[in-house]
Amino acid sequence: MISIKSAQELDQMREAGRIIAEAFELMNEAVCPGVTTGELDQIVEDLIRKRGGIPAFKGYRGFPGSICASVNEEVVHGIPGTRRLEDGDLVKIDIGVKKGSFFGDSARTFGVGNVSDDAARLMEVCRDSLGAGMAKMQAGNKLRDVSAAIGDYATSRGYGVVEDFVGHGIGRELHESPQVPNFYRGSRFDYDVVLKAGMTLAIEPMINLGTHQVDTLSDGWTVVTKDRLLSAHFEHTVAVGSDGPEVLTSL
Ligand code: MG
Ligand code: MG
Repeated sequence: MISIKSAQELDQMREAGRIIAEAFELMNEAVCPGVTTGELDQIVEDLIRKRGGIPAFKGYRGFPGSICASVNEEVVHGIPGTRRLEDGDLVKIDIGVKKGSFFGDSARTFGVGNVSDDAARLMEVCRDSLGAGMAKMQAGNKLRDVSAAIGDYATSRGYGVVEDFVGHGIGRELHESPQVPNFYRGSRFDYDVVLKAGMTLAIEPMINLGTHQVDTLSDGWTVVTKDRLLSAHFEHTVAVGSDGPEVLTSL
C-alpha cells in the first residue's frame, strides 16, 4: 500500500523539508577542519527545535543522534560524537525531521577543506546519480525507471552502488512503502510500481569508490565499505507532481 498525499499533506511535507534545507545551509558554514560531528549534531538539533520540528532520527530504534554523520569509508548511520573532522575528509550528513504529522529526509556529502580529486569526483557522481533518478519521478513511470537511472549512471562510471541499503516511501512515517533501490536487478523489489501524482519517495544513492559491499561495525549502526574506500551519499524527499518531480527538501 503506497500512500498518495493530498495538496494539504504535501504542504506539510514541504514544511518539514524546508527545515532540513535550512539545516544544510548551516552545515555549509559549520563543516570545517576541527569541528566535531557532535557539534554539528547540536547545531542541527537546535535549528529543528527552533522551527517547531522534531529530529526524526533521535531515538529511532535507539539511535542516539539527531543527525547521522558518516566520515570517509563510513557509508550511512554514523553516530555523531567527539570525532574531529580533518582536512580532506568526506562527511555525509543525513537529517530527518518530523513537522506536524509528516516527515522529511535528506542527506548531503560535504568535502572538509581540500579533498582529493577522487573524492570530489565521487561526490559529483553520487549527486548527479540522484539527479538522474529524480528526473524519472514522473507520473506513469515505474519504480524501475528511477532505480535504473541511478544505478546505470553510477555503474557506467565505474563506481560501486550499495545494495544493502535503499531509499523508501515517506510521509506520515519515516519509512513507508515502497523500498527504492538504487539499481534495477533481480526481483527482490516492487520494480513494477507505477508512479502516481502525490507519491513521495526518499531517493538516496550510496555510491562507493570501490566495491559496493558493506559491513556494519560493532556499534550496531555504522555502515562502512568492505574495502574501506570512500563512500558518498545524497538524498532528497521528492514528490511525483502532475507536471514533473518536486524536491520537497529544498528551500
Ligand atoms: Mg536520510
Ligand atoms: Mg532515507
